[in-house]
Amino acid sequence: MSILEAIKNNRILLSDGAWGTLLQAKGLKPGECPELWNITHRPDVISIAESYLLAGSDIIETNSFGGNKFKLSEYGLGERVDEINMAAAAISREASGTGKYVAGSIGPTGKMLLIGDVTETELYDAFSQQAIALEKGGADIIIIETMSAVDEASLAVKAARDKTNCTVIITMTFSRTLNGEYRTMMGVSPEEMVVSMKEAGAHIVGSNCGNGIGDMISIVRSIRAADSKIPIMIQANAGAPELINGKTIFRESPEMMASFIPEIIKAGASIIGGCCGTTPDHIREIGKSIGR
Ligand SMILES: [Zn+2]
Repeated sequence: MSILEAIKNNRILLSDGAWGTLLQAKGLKPGECPELWNITHRPDVISIAESYLLAGSDIIETNSFGGNKFKLSEYGLGERVDEINMAAAAISREASGTGKYVAGSIGPTGKMLLIGDVTETELYDAFSQQAIALEKGGADIIIIETMSAVDEASLAVKAARDKTNCTVIITMTFSRTLNGEYRTMMGVSPEEMVVSMKEAGAHIVGSNCGNGIGDMISIVRSIRAADSKIPIMIQANAGAPELINGKTIFRESPEMMASFIPEIIKAGASIIGGCCGTTPDHIREIGKSIGR
C-alpha cells in the first residue's frame, strides 16, 4: 500500500528520529561529512536505521540530508553525489526490507536565490540529481526538510515530482514570533507554505525541527485551517533547544513528547516522528501513544 493510501485509510504513521546525534555517538567528528559515512562506515549507518526499525518506525529516512552537490562540494565531494545518495537509500532499504517506507532526505543547499548566489536552474538540477539517486537506491518517498524559503523548496518539490515516481513530502522549519505567530527564517507562514507547496506538487506538507511538539500543535492547526485534506507530517525536536556550557541540549523526555501525541493527531497530523534530540526511545514512546 502506498503511504497516501495508508493515510487515506486513517492510519497514523510513525517516522524516525534524529540521525546526526547517533552518528556522533558512533564517532562522527565535527567537520566530517556525515553523508560520506554511507560509504566509509556503512555498518554504523545501517545500525542507526535498524535502531529506529526496532523502535517501530514505519518510515525510515536516509543519511542524505546534506547530500546535494553544493553541500558535498564543501567537503570536496561534489563529484560523488550519485554514489553517496544511492548508498544512503540502499542502506535504509536494506535495513527495512520491503514492508516499510524509505524516505530519501533532502535538505537545503545553503544557497540563496534572493541574493543571486545561484540560479533557479542550478538549484533545480541539484535537487533533481539527488532525488533521482535516492529513488535509484530504493527510496519510495522523497522528504524535503528544514526548508525556509518558498523559492528553493518549490524547486526541490518540482524536481522530485518531475524526475521520480516517489511520494513527495515537504516540511519547513518555523519559529514563534513575538506576537505568537509562526514564521520560517524567510518569513513564510504555515498557511503560505501549504498554498505554495501544493502548487509545486507536494503530496504531504508539514514541519520539522525548530520546535518541540507542544508548539507544533498550533502549526498543524494553521495548516489544517488552510487546507482541510492535505496529509500533515510533524517531526518535532525533543523540546526547545537550551544552550548549556556552549552545548545545545534538548530535554524533553520520551514520555513528555508522547503525551502531546493525542492532541497533535486531533489537530490533523498523520505522520509523526522526531528531529533534533530525539532517539529511538522517543520514537518507541510515540509509537505506544499511537497504539503500537
Ligand atoms: Zn532538527
